[in-house]
Amino acid sequence: MAPPALKGAPLPATPIKTVLLVVALQAEAAPLVKDLNLKEDTSGLFPAGVPWVKFSGEYKSMKVHLVTPGVDAIHGVDAVCTVPASLLTFSSVQLFKPDLIINCGTAGGFQKKGAEIGDVYLISETAFHDRRNMLPGFDNYGIGALAATPVPKLVSHLNLKVGVLTTGDSLDHVDKDDEVMENNNATVKDMEGAAIAYVADLLTTPLILLKGVTDIVDSPAATEEEFLLNLQSAAKAIQTTVTSALDFLSLKNLSDLQ
Ligand code: SAH
Repeated sequence: MAPPALKGAPLPATPIKTVLLVVALQAEAAPLVKDLNLKEDTSGLFPAGVPWVKFSGEYKSMKVHLVTPGVDAIHGVDAVCTVPASLLTFSSVQLFKPDLIINCGTAGGFQKKGAEIGDVYLISETAFHDRRNMLPGFDNYGIGALAATPVPKLVSHLNLKVGVLTTGDSLDHVDKDDEVMENNNATVKDMEGAAIAYVADLLTTPLILLKGVTDIVDSPAATEEEFLLNLQSAAKAIQTTVTSALDFLSLKNLSDLQ
């Protein structure tokens, strides 16, 4: 496992040998599994009964594990949101001891911050917008802002847009969410990223987040319609960016990203 690398410390000069990709939706995972030629691992590493799915393979100089929370056994849909993503990430870091986590997936984008459908953002910071608690100190705990691992060399190599990600457990947003998302200075909005960042920080594992925009949050268009219309193309754009990021990471040390 990577030595402590977060909390502002520079990344160590250790080789990037194992990368963990955490992906919420099967539709987001599919193009990556295909392009990276990953194979499903059914050897039963996860606790019995969990729906989590793992695909693994060698890509260039690295071992790559892609995990998804799978399909919820009761409701028959992808197990999106913060709780499954946190548990899956926690368990996967323990099991696979990655040098680096990449959380990639779709997100809403704020047009007032310049986001457009099809963009892929590198996330500079994550925060929550639906954990409200007015008690002293708990207000900021609820927001839970965390800096993602700074990777300026990767940003300039891939010429990525950079923005803050705000996370909540709802696809829609009420007025109070709008206020908090504005305070979070968010450019993109998802349902997992800040939870994964919390786990990465707990376990002192470097984290990169790449988010592809499927829908515009601050527009009158219906989010679910835009999301479904753009899901496949965004998943493809995410795959292209993640593959390019892995190409860049190959044969590099963590410190080479900064
Ligand atoms: N009906 C979808 C359900 C996915 S929920 C399906 O076909 O599977 C939306 C997923 O996309 C979440 O994993 C979330 O992280 C991301 N997402 C995309 N746009 C979003 C938005 N505007 N707000 C919050 N999450 C969004």
